[in-house]
Amino acid sequence: MTIVMGHIVKGHGASVRIETCGKTFADGTRALEPASLDIARGETLVLLGPSGCGKTTMLRIIAGLELPDPGGKVLFDGKDMTSVPIERRNVGMVFQSYALFPNMSVADNIGYGLKISGVPKAERAARVAELVALTNITGLENRRVDQLSGGQRQRVALARAVAIRPGILLLDEPLTALDAALRERLRSELNRLLRALGITTIYVTHDQAEAMELGDRIVVMRKGAIAQIGSPREIYFTPQNRFVAEFIGAANIIEAPLEGGHLVLPGGRQPLGGDQSQPAAIAMIRPETIGIVEFAGAPLSGTIESVIFIGDRQRVVVSGASDKPLIVDAPNTVQARPGERVGLLIAPDAVRLLPPGD
Ligand code: ATP
Repeated sequence: MTIVMGHIVKGHGASVRIETCGKTFADGTRALEPASLDIARGETLVLLGPSGCGKTTMLRIIAGLELPDPGGKVLFDGKDMTSVPIERRNVGMVFQSYALFPNMSVADNIGYGLKISGVPKAERAARVAELVALTNITGLENRRVDQLSGGQRQRVALARAVAIRPGILLLDEPLTALDAALRERLRSELNRLLRALGITTIYVTHDQAEAMELGDRIVVMRKGAIAQIGSPREIYFTPQNRFVAEFIGAANIIEAPLEGGHLVLPGGRQPLGGDQSQPAAIAMIRPETIGIVEFAGAPLSGTIESVIFIGDRQRVVVSGASDKPLIVDAPNTVQARPGERVGLLIAPDAVRLLPPGD
C-alpha cells in the first residue's frame, strides 16, 4: 500500500492506563477480574484469548461503552476518563461487522465523523482523498457501501475510524469476517498503516498469527484474567504458564522427574539450562526446536509414529522418548519414515520449565 503522509499527523496517540478495572454484568456474570494495564503512546497492544475470556469487555470499557465495576479507572494521557462518554473520548472504533452507512457513498462514510464535528468541506474532501489513498480504495469513492466487497468495506471502516484523528484506535476482530488470503493481506497492510499513523491501538483477536504480526505487546487473557503480558517473542519463547504455552503455537508439554540438571525421560536424559534443584517439573518444548539425528549415541531416542508432509516442513510424531508422543517440526529435507528409531537433539535452553497447575 502506498503510504501518503500529507495531512496525516504522525505520533498523536494518547497513552492509556487501566487501573483495577473489573466488570460484573447485571446478571452476575464476572466478565473481567480487576486488571491494571499501561499502554504507551503509539503502541499497538493486542488482547488475545479464547472466546468469552473478556477481550471485548475490556475494549468496551476503554471505549466508554461500558463502565468498570466501582473502583476501576480509565485514564488517557493521565486524565481520568472513566465517566466521560464515548463521543468525548476521541477514540476511533472498527468492529468485525463494519457498521457503515449502507446507502452512503464511500467518501461520505469516511467523511461522516469530520462532517458532524464541523470540519469545513474543502478540508474534509482533502482528508478523505488522503485516507482513500492510504487505505488503497482509490476509484471507489463514489460507490455505495453495499456495492463493495468485504475487504473493501473493512478498508472504508478503517479509514472512517482514523479520519477523525483519534488518539486511540480500538479494533475488535476487524478481519475475522474475511477469507484467509484476504485476512493475511489486510493484516500486513494494517500493520504498515498503524505504524505510519502512530495512533495508540488496542486490537482484539483470537487469532495468534494476527496478534504476533500486529502487536508490540500481547495480553493473553483467560477466563476474565490476564494470563501474561509481553512482546510476541516473550509470549512465544518464555510463556509463564501452561495455558499460554499451549494457546500460542504448538507445544510439547512433558511432566518428568529431574535428576542432576536433567529431565529423566523414558527415552533418555534431556539436559536443562540453568540450575534446577526441584524433584520434578513440567517442561515445554516447541516442536521446531527438536532435531532428528542418528539413533546411535543420541541423548534421547524414540520411534517415529507418523510423518505428515506440510510443504515448508514436516510434522513428525515420535513415541517412546517422552511420557506422551513428541511432536517434531523437521525440515522438509529430513528423511523420516514411520517405524524408524531415531535420536532427538534438543538444546538445553529450548526446554522451558513451567510452574505446576494449568
Ligand atoms: P469473543 O471472542 O467470543 O468475542 P470475548 O473474549 O470478547 O469473546 P466478552 O465479550 O468480553 O468475551 O465476554 C466475556 C464474558 O462476559 C462472556 O462470558 C460473556 O458471555 C459475558 N458477557 C458479555 N456481555 C455481557 C452482558 N451484557 N451481560 C452478561 N454477560 C455478558
